[in-house]
Amino acid sequence: MKIVSLYKDRLAKERGAVKKDWGGKISVALIYPNYYRIGMSNLGFQSVYGILNENPAIVAERVFLPEQEELLLYRRTNNTLLSVESQAPLQKFDFLAFSLSFQNDYPNVLTILDLSKIPLMCKDRAENYPLIIAGGVTTFMNPEPLASFIDCFLIGEGEVIVKKFFDAYLDFQLSTVNKEETLRVLGSVVEGVYCPSFYKVTYREDGSIGSFDTLISSIPSRVKAVKQVPFNGPLCQSKIITPSTEFSDTILVELNRGCGAGCRFCAAGYVYRPPRIIEEKNIFSSFESILDENTRVGLVSPSATDVPWIERLTSTILERGGDFSVSSFRADSLTTDLLKNIKKSSQKTLTFAPEAGSERLRMVINKKLTTEEILEAIIRIARTGFFHIKLYFIIGLPTETREDVKDIIGLVKSIRHHLIKESKGRKRIGRIRLSINCLVPKPFTPFQWFPMDTVDSLKEKQKIIKGALSDVGG
Ligand code: SF4
Repeated sequence: MKIVSLYKDRLAKERGAVKKDWGGKISVALIYPNYYRIGMSNLGFQSVYGILNENPAIVAERVFLPEQEELLLYRRTNNTLLSVESQAPLQKFDFLAFSLSFQNDYPNVLTILDLSKIPLMCKDRAENYPLIIAGGVTTFMNPEPLASFIDCFLIGEGEVIVKKFFDAYLDFQLSTVNKEETLRVLGSVVEGVYCPSFYKVTYREDGSIGSFDTLISSIPSRVKAVKQVPFNGPLCQSKIITPSTEFSDTILVELNRGCGAGCRFCAAGYVYRPPRIIEEKNIFSSFESILDENTRVGLVSPSATDVPWIERLTSTILERGGDFSVSSFRADSLTTDLLKNIKKSSQKTLTFAPEAGSERLRMVINKKLTTEEILEAIIRIARTGFFHIKLYFIIGLPTETREDVKDIIGLVKSIRHHLIKESKGRKRIGRIRLSINCLVPKPFTPFQWFPMDTVDSLKEKQKIIKGALSDVGG
């Protein structure tokens, strides 16, 4: 079958995939509800794969949303969706575990259940179907859109909750009891486990929640996200290296989690509190072996310049003959030493997020970055070497006016002006790429109750920016 050979081909190109014998083990289909090339770039998904397979009593295999041609093949042949490692149908697993990082993937959960010929609603699934669980950062924020389809959510950071969940499942020998009893035990004893079927929710006329009551006394009335504090466990890093992702043949390593900057729209800044940085001695000892086996490292951080040892780490990687890329920086704290190291790496694009064009609006969203600081960073970059610049902006922010939108244009033009001026004498000048995103107010942030801007208004703002910059080039 073509799908089987496609998956075998994928496996052959990978380094680090785990293939276990299923005998006597709990089987978990770890599902990323998007394409292989996207899921394999997701550090949380990769990390949970490692955590599950480290347990000798568990066999975990990966499943992805099939891409166009692959999807057509499934539909045409009427075959059920298969795992990558042993090409097993999903109905054969004890657990289906969804890893959810983006709300846009929620509909894909249903596509995957449908492709697996598993009833979508919890109430329609009999005992012979797998237990369906879900975790990941979007489930910390709002699991409710999926509450009718998922038997239980693991609310919290994977390193802590995934391990506790399966340890409890094994300790209480829950494979011998029915689903309801399994959920009752796990929901009662494991902090962070949320089983929607044990709660009764009523809604007011305006759609807001009127009451939220437990149906069983042992179930917590409020479920709190579980976090890894202190932050001293093993490094969160890729377990499988593959050429077929955005970060091809790159090992991803997390440097810090959360961010203390407090930007008011930013979910990462709120749900991952407190901000935590890996201990210096832990990172340097771990990098000894990471660099023995890998050449290219992707340093993952909400803001790498918050990490006090970033210059030393990037120097170490270069001295060992390695290469690195850094995800994003805060413009006001980008040092010349770090820039010099990046210049020696193969990274050619630097990403910043001014978020708003005007200083006024940046202060409203608590992005404490002046225009002067942004331009100083651009000058430092251009003087160091040739780089492309990627800039993130948000439109639809609270209190935003037309003038604020036009200030995005002004800021981009100033950045371009300084980039050209400071790059004089060079044959090439870096390109500026903009990513303009519409604000989706996120739960747990101070902006959570602000209404989203209307589609018409957002389109008009996009048009203003596009129209003004289309003749500028970059
Ligand atoms: S600096 Fe970046 S990661 Fe930190 S709170 Fe602001 S937007 Fe979020």
